Amino acid sequence: MKLIPLPAFSDNYIWLLHDERHALVVDPGDAQPVLAALQKFNLQLQAILVTHHHPDHTGGVAALREATGATVYGPQHEVMPEPLTRLGQGAQVQSLGLRLDVLEVPGHTAGHIAFYCADVNGAPLLFCGDTLFSAGCGRLFEGTPAQMLASLDSLAALPDATQICCAHEYTLSNLKFACAVEPGNAALSDYAAAAQRLRAAQQGTLPSNLLLERRINPFLRSRQPDVIRAVRAFDASAQGEVAVFAALRQWKNEFQ
Ligand code: ZN
Ligand code: FE
Repeated sequence: MKLIPLPAFSDNYIWLLHDERHALVVDPGDAQPVLAALQKFNLQLQAILVTHHHPDHTGGVAALREATGATVYGPQHEVMPEPLTRLGQGAQVQSLGLRLDVLEVPGHTAGHIAFYCADVNGAPLLFCGDTLFSAGCGRLFEGTPAQMLASLDSLAALPDATQICCAHEYTLSNLKFACAVEPGNAALSDYAAAAQRLRAAQQGTLPSNLLLERRINPFLRSRQPDVIRAVRAFDASAQGEVAVFAALRQWKNEFQ
Protein backbone atom coordinates (compact mmCIF):
# COMPACT_ATOMS: atom_id res chain seq x y z
CA MET A 1 0.00 0.00 0.00
CA LYS A 2 1.37 3.44 -0.93
CA LEU A 3 0.57 6.55 1.11
CA ILE A 4 1.18 9.88 -0.63
CA PRO A 5 0.47 13.41 0.64
CA LEU A 6 -0.59 15.55 -2.33
CA PRO A 7 0.13 19.21 -1.57
CA ALA A 8 -2.78 21.57 -2.28
CA PHE A 9 -3.33 25.32 -1.84
CA SER A 10 -0.65 26.84 0.40
CA ASP A 11 -0.41 24.22 3.16
CA ASN A 12 -3.05 21.47 2.72
CA TYR A 13 -2.30 17.81 2.19
CA ILE A 14 -4.75 15.60 0.32
CA TRP A 15 -3.83 12.05 1.40
CA LEU A 16 -3.84 9.43 -1.35
CA LEU A 17 -3.67 5.74 -0.44
CA HIS A 18 -3.36 3.17 -3.23
CA ASP A 19 -2.52 -0.48 -3.98
CA GLU A 20 -1.20 0.18 -7.53
CA ARG A 21 -4.70 -0.33 -8.99
CA HIS A 22 -7.29 1.29 -6.74
CA ALA A 23 -7.05 4.42 -4.64
CA LEU A 24 -8.80 6.39 -1.95
CA VAL A 25 -8.30 10.07 -1.14
CA VAL A 26 -9.00 12.06 1.99
CA ASP A 27 -10.23 15.68 2.05
CA PRO A 28 -9.76 16.64 -1.60
CA GLY A 29 -10.14 20.41 -1.39
CA ASP A 30 -8.97 20.56 -5.00
CA ALA A 31 -9.64 17.89 -7.67
CA GLN A 32 -6.72 18.78 -9.94
CA PRO A 33 -3.77 17.32 -7.95
CA VAL A 34 -5.81 14.14 -7.35
CA LEU A 35 -6.72 13.72 -11.03
CA ALA A 36 -3.07 14.28 -11.96
CA ALA A 37 -1.90 11.61 -9.49
CA LEU A 38 -4.58 9.11 -10.63
CA GLN A 39 -3.38 9.55 -14.19
CA LYS A 40 0.32 9.45 -13.32
CA PHE A 41 0.06 6.20 -11.34
CA ASN A 42 -2.76 4.77 -13.50
CA LEU A 43 -5.20 4.35 -10.59
CA GLN A 44 -8.93 4.01 -10.32
CA LEU A 45 -10.43 6.11 -7.52
CA GLN A 46 -12.66 3.99 -5.31
CA ALA A 47 -13.49 6.18 -2.33
CA ILE A 48 -13.42 9.83 -1.28
CA LEU A 49 -13.27 10.31 2.50
CA VAL A 50 -14.15 13.69 3.98
CA THR A 51 -13.51 14.67 7.61
CA HIS A 52 -15.45 17.95 7.83
CA HIS A 53 -17.29 20.56 5.79
CA HIS A 54 -14.64 23.27 5.26
CA PRO A 55 -14.08 24.17 1.58
CA ASP A 56 -10.33 23.42 1.67
CA HIS A 57 -11.38 19.79 2.37
CA THR A 58 -14.47 19.47 0.15
CA GLY A 59 -13.84 21.76 -2.86
CA GLY A 60 -12.78 18.94 -5.20
CA VAL A 61 -15.32 16.32 -4.12
CA ALA A 62 -18.00 16.93 -6.77
CA ALA A 63 -15.53 17.08 -9.69
CA LEU A 64 -13.77 13.90 -8.52
CA ARG A 65 -17.02 12.02 -8.05
CA GLU A 66 -18.16 13.05 -11.53
CA ALA A 67 -14.82 12.15 -13.13
CA THR A 68 -14.36 8.78 -11.39
CA GLY A 69 -17.67 7.54 -9.99
CA ALA A 70 -15.99 7.07 -6.58
CA THR A 71 -18.20 6.76 -3.49
CA VAL A 72 -18.08 9.73 -1.12
CA TYR A 73 -18.05 9.16 2.65
CA GLY A 74 -18.42 11.99 5.15
CA PRO A 75 -19.68 13.07 8.54
CA GLN A 76 -23.24 12.46 9.65
CA HIS A 77 -23.78 15.87 11.24
CA GLU A 78 -22.35 18.41 8.77
CA VAL A 79 -23.68 20.31 5.77
CA MET A 80 -21.87 18.57 2.91
CA PRO A 81 -22.02 18.35 -0.89
CA GLU A 82 -24.52 15.57 -1.70
CA PRO A 83 -24.75 12.71 -2.46
CA LEU A 84 -22.59 11.10 0.17
CA THR A 85 -22.66 8.16 2.55
CA ARG A 86 -22.97 9.67 6.03
CA LEU A 87 -20.97 8.10 8.84
CA GLY A 88 -21.08 8.39 12.64
CA GLN A 89 -19.08 6.96 15.54
CA GLY A 90 -18.37 3.24 15.01
CA ALA A 91 -19.27 3.21 11.31
CA GLN A 92 -16.90 1.44 8.94
CA VAL A 93 -15.67 2.01 5.42
CA GLN A 94 -14.36 -0.92 3.37
CA SER A 95 -11.97 0.13 0.63
CA LEU A 96 -8.77 -1.26 -0.96
CA GLY A 97 -9.30 -4.39 1.15
CA LEU A 98 -8.92 -2.27 4.30
CA ARG A 99 -11.40 -1.55 7.06
CA LEU A 100 -11.47 2.05 8.24
CA ASP A 101 -13.27 2.86 11.49
CA VAL A 102 -14.97 6.20 11.98
CA LEU A 103 -14.31 8.24 15.12
CA GLU A 104 -16.37 11.32 15.92
CA VAL A 105 -13.96 14.06 17.00
CA PRO A 106 -15.94 17.31 17.39
CA GLY A 107 -14.14 20.56 18.22
CA HIS A 108 -12.72 22.15 15.06
CA THR A 109 -16.21 21.71 13.60
CA ALA A 110 -19.28 20.30 15.34
CA GLY A 111 -19.44 17.09 13.29
CA HIS A 112 -15.77 16.45 12.47
CA ILE A 113 -14.85 12.77 12.00
CA ALA A 114 -11.55 10.88 11.68
CA PHE A 115 -10.77 7.60 9.91
CA TYR A 116 -8.66 4.93 11.64
CA CYS A 117 -7.26 1.78 10.07
CA ALA A 118 -5.66 -0.79 12.39
CA ASP A 119 -3.12 -1.99 9.81
CA VAL A 120 -1.65 -0.24 6.80
CA ASN A 121 1.74 -1.74 5.90
CA GLY A 122 2.11 -3.14 9.42
CA ALA A 123 1.15 -0.08 11.48
CA PRO A 124 -2.12 1.65 12.38
CA LEU A 125 -2.97 4.80 10.47
CA LEU A 126 -5.18 7.79 11.26
CA PHE A 127 -6.62 10.41 8.92
CA CYS A 128 -7.50 13.16 11.39
CA GLY A 129 -8.33 16.16 9.17
CA ASP A 130 -8.02 19.40 11.14
CA THR A 131 -8.41 17.87 14.62
CA LEU A 132 -4.83 16.88 15.45
CA PHE A 133 -1.80 18.48 13.80
CA SER A 134 1.83 17.69 14.43
CA ALA A 135 2.65 19.68 17.59
CA GLY A 136 -0.77 21.33 17.48
CA CYS A 137 -4.54 20.99 17.09
CA GLY A 138 -7.27 22.63 15.05
CA ARG A 139 -8.86 25.92 15.99
CA LEU A 140 -12.18 25.69 17.80
CA PHE A 141 -14.53 27.15 15.19
CA GLU A 142 -17.70 25.30 16.23
CA GLY A 143 -16.97 23.02 19.18
CA THR A 144 -16.16 23.69 22.81
CA PRO A 145 -12.82 23.19 24.58
CA ALA A 146 -14.37 20.26 26.50
CA GLN A 147 -15.34 18.60 23.20
CA MET A 148 -11.91 19.13 21.66
CA LEU A 149 -10.14 17.84 24.76
CA ALA A 150 -12.30 14.69 24.72
CA SER A 151 -11.68 14.25 20.98
CA LEU A 152 -7.91 14.57 21.42
CA ASP A 153 -8.06 12.16 24.40
CA SER A 154 -9.77 9.57 22.17
CA LEU A 155 -7.07 9.97 19.51
CA ALA A 156 -4.28 9.88 22.11
CA ALA A 157 -5.60 6.48 23.26
CA LEU A 158 -4.74 4.89 19.89
CA PRO A 159 -1.58 2.73 19.65
CA ASP A 160 1.88 4.39 19.86
CA ALA A 161 2.83 3.38 16.31
CA THR A 162 -0.23 5.04 14.73
CA GLN A 163 0.80 7.05 11.66
CA ILE A 164 -0.82 10.47 11.97
CA CYS A 165 -1.97 11.93 8.64
CA CYS A 166 -2.97 15.56 9.25
CA ALA A 167 -4.57 17.79 6.62
CA HIS A 168 -2.14 20.72 6.95
CA GLU A 169 1.61 21.32 7.07
CA TYR A 170 1.49 23.56 10.15
CA THR A 171 4.30 21.77 11.97
CA LEU A 172 6.94 24.52 12.16
CA SER A 173 4.61 27.25 13.40
CA ASN A 174 3.06 24.79 15.88
CA LEU A 175 6.55 23.88 17.11
CA LYS A 176 7.40 27.54 17.74
CA PHE A 177 4.45 27.72 20.11
CA ALA A 178 5.13 24.28 21.64
CA CYS A 179 8.72 25.35 22.46
CA ALA A 180 7.37 28.49 24.16
CA VAL A 181 5.06 26.30 26.29
CA GLU A 182 7.70 23.67 27.17
CA PRO A 183 11.20 25.13 26.76
CA GLY A 184 12.61 22.31 28.91
CA ASN A 185 11.22 19.43 26.79
CA ALA A 186 14.27 17.81 25.11
CA ALA A 187 12.21 15.55 22.82
CA LEU A 188 10.45 18.68 21.61
CA SER A 189 13.65 20.63 20.84
CA ASP A 190 15.08 17.58 19.02
CA TYR A 191 11.95 17.26 16.90
CA ALA A 192 11.88 21.01 16.18
CA ALA A 193 15.45 20.80 14.83
CA ALA A 194 14.59 17.75 12.70
CA ALA A 195 11.42 19.39 11.33
CA GLN A 196 13.36 22.54 10.43
CA ARG A 197 15.86 20.46 8.46
CA LEU A 198 13.03 18.70 6.59
CA ARG A 199 11.29 21.96 5.68
CA ALA A 200 14.57 23.59 4.64
CA ALA A 201 15.01 20.66 2.22
CA GLN A 202 11.42 21.30 0.88
CA GLN A 203 10.20 18.06 2.48
CA GLY A 204 6.99 17.46 4.43
CA THR A 205 6.96 16.57 8.12
CA LEU A 206 4.01 14.16 7.88
CA PRO A 207 2.87 11.56 8.68
CA SER A 208 3.81 11.97 12.31
CA ASN A 209 3.23 9.19 14.83
CA LEU A 210 1.32 9.09 18.07
CA LEU A 211 4.22 8.23 20.35
CA LEU A 212 6.05 11.35 19.16
CA GLU A 213 2.94 13.53 19.45
CA ARG A 214 2.34 12.39 23.03
CA ARG A 215 5.89 13.54 23.83
CA ILE A 216 5.88 16.89 22.04
CA ASN A 217 2.33 18.11 21.32
CA PRO A 218 1.21 20.58 24.03
CA PHE A 219 -2.45 19.88 23.22
CA LEU A 220 -1.93 16.19 24.14
CA ARG A 221 0.08 17.29 27.20
CA SER A 222 -2.29 19.76 28.85
CA ARG A 223 -2.32 17.70 32.07
CA GLN A 224 1.48 17.72 32.42
CA PRO A 225 2.64 19.86 35.37
CA ASP A 226 5.07 21.89 33.21
CA VAL A 227 2.32 22.68 30.70
CA ILE A 228 -0.17 23.62 33.43
CA ARG A 229 2.43 25.94 35.00
CA ALA A 230 3.13 27.64 31.65
CA VAL A 231 -0.59 28.04 30.90
CA ARG A 232 -1.21 29.62 34.32
CA ALA A 233 1.55 32.14 33.62
CA PHE A 234 -0.52 33.12 30.54
CA ASP A 235 -3.89 32.98 32.32
CA ALA A 236 -3.79 32.66 36.10
CA SER A 237 -7.54 32.03 36.26
CA ALA A 238 -7.25 28.68 34.39
CA GLN A 239 -8.34 26.08 36.97
CA GLY A 240 -9.40 22.54 36.08
CA GLU A 241 -8.37 20.53 33.02
CA VAL A 242 -10.89 21.94 30.57
CA ALA A 243 -10.07 25.53 31.59
CA VAL A 244 -6.33 24.82 31.23
CA PHE A 245 -6.91 23.31 27.78
CA ALA A 246 -9.09 26.29 26.77
CA ALA A 247 -6.44 28.76 27.96
CA LEU A 248 -3.72 26.83 26.11
CA ARG A 249 -5.76 27.03 22.88
CA GLN A 250 -6.40 30.76 23.50
CA TRP A 251 -2.68 31.34 24.09
CA LYS A 252 -1.91 29.67 20.74
CA ASN A 253 -4.53 31.84 18.99
CA GLU A 254 -2.76 34.96 20.26
CA PHE A 255 0.79 33.67 19.84
CA GLN A 256 3.01 35.42 17.27
ZN1 ZN B 1 -10.94 22.92 8.66
FE1 FE C 1 -8.39 22.78 6.78
